[in-house]
Amino acid sequence: MTESNIESNSKMDKHAACPHVIILPYPSQGHINPLLQFAKRLAGKGLRPTVATTHYTTNFIRAPSVAVEPISDGFDDGGFAQARNEGNFLNSFKHNGSKSLSDIIGKYESTDHPVRCIIYDAFFPWALDVARRHRLLAAAFFTNSAAVCAIFSHIHGGTLSLPVAVSDKPLLLPGLPELNSGDLPGFLRAPESYPAYLAMKLNQFSNLDRADFVFDNSFQALEGQEAKSVAEKWPARLIGPMVPSAYLDGRIEGDKGYGASLWKPLTEPLTAWLGAREPASVAYISFGSMVSLTADQTAEIAEALLKGPSDFLWIVRETELKKLPEGFTEAVDGKGMIVPWCNQLEILAHPAVGCFVTHCGWNSTLEGLSLGVPMVAVPQWADQMTDAKFIEGIWGVGVRAKEDEFGIVRREELVRCLKEVTEGEKSLVIRKNVRKWKDLAKAAMDEGGSSDRAIDEFVKELMIDKGTC
Ligand code: UDP
Repeated sequence: MTESNIESNSKMDKHAACPHVIILPYPSQGHINPLLQFAKRLAGKGLRPTVATTHYTTNFIRAPSVAVEPISDGFDDGGFAQARNEGNFLNSFKHNGSKSLSDIIGKYESTDHPVRCIIYDAFFPWALDVARRHRLLAAAFFTNSAAVCAIFSHIHGGTLSLPVAVSDKPLLLPGLPELNSGDLPGFLRAPESYPAYLAMKLNQFSNLDRADFVFDNSFQALEGQEAKSVAEKWPARLIGPMVPSAYLDGRIEGDKGYGASLWKPLTEPLTAWLGAREPASVAYISFGSMVSLTADQTAEIAEALLKGPSDFLWIVRETELKKLPEGFTEAVDGKGMIVPWCNQLEILAHPAVGCFVTHCGWNSTLEGLSLGVPMVAVPQWADQMTDAKFIEGIWGVGVRAKEDEFGIVRREELVRCLKEVTEGEKSLVIRKNVRKWKDLAKAAMDEGGSSDRAIDEFVKELMIDKGTC
């Protein structure tokens, strides 16, 4: 064996022993959570994960098995808030992030754990080019449902054209249920309404044919059919639900939270308040980290909660507080609590919580499903519309509140939905479905489950050299 053989073999051994992967999330709560969770899963299976995230967000990440490296988005002091709009932010991230990611890879090149693969948020397709420049493997990670990815894959592939017209008859795509106008992101009907966001969603597919791996945060029993329907264009391995292990298979010790909270959660007073309530007597309401409701919609929800059948815990982020109707906080009295941020998983897992009024962000949807909480879907935009369709119509784990002609869910409608998921015949069916999906989510992540096997295969493929590096 020549000296260079010996050197390259020992280099391969270093790769093979404990392959080092860099994980690059889009820096928002709904993207950091699943990608960080994936990093923890990979660490549990013998890989060495490093999460590369913006200077601003590094401060919030605490996960013992995962290293963190700062990357520049060009707005190192204030992150997204400093960028004037999404388009600016994405351009700057691409420009500064490519260089910064390259620097991180370079930093590890001569160590005993050089980087083997970049797992990048599909919002950042440029990361594939960085991986290629360094002769590394590249894996795209999608944080939406397989159904949503399938729709965008059809648009990208030309089998569905924009604007999507669904006024007379529902949209029929292979492997997907009939989709009506309200089940689709509004900007598919009016592409000009959010051009930067739409471009980003479609860009996810721009170089996907060159990715070595594609992952999606879903699971076979939930969306195997939807994923299969576009497998040629979108060959995703379903590896979810990326929810902390304590709520599923329990195989990662102490894994009770994502390990990244961009806001400080209020915990003690909430646990005490919930602890004093009957099982399944509280409605938990959250619209996630991004949605900003109109004052009109906020007022309707407020009135519905005051009139509704359950006590309630409502997450109203600080920036949204001013929209609460005058006198509301006083009127609430002991019936409810309004807090700016919480540990959502802990709340959903609490026995006092009996229903989840959700905006249907994909993480919240998977959390409700995995923790077995009946849902009232109040989607606001983008993928949330499609997730709501599946929550009510396909998985039967909740009901969807109907909007009036102004796009507002009125108080009477929300009260009707709250009653439907908590009282009467329909609530029994929903609860049965919820238990079924909770078990299936756990089974997918448990040893030998479909997602567990998909992750194992990836780890194995990384351990044996694929020959591209
Ligand atoms: N979340 C939380 N505390 C809250 C509200 C939300 O920890 O008070 C978490 C929630 O558990 C989920 C994420 O924030 O993991 C929101 O992601 P999702 O995809 O549901 O919605 P987005 O914020 O991206 O719209």
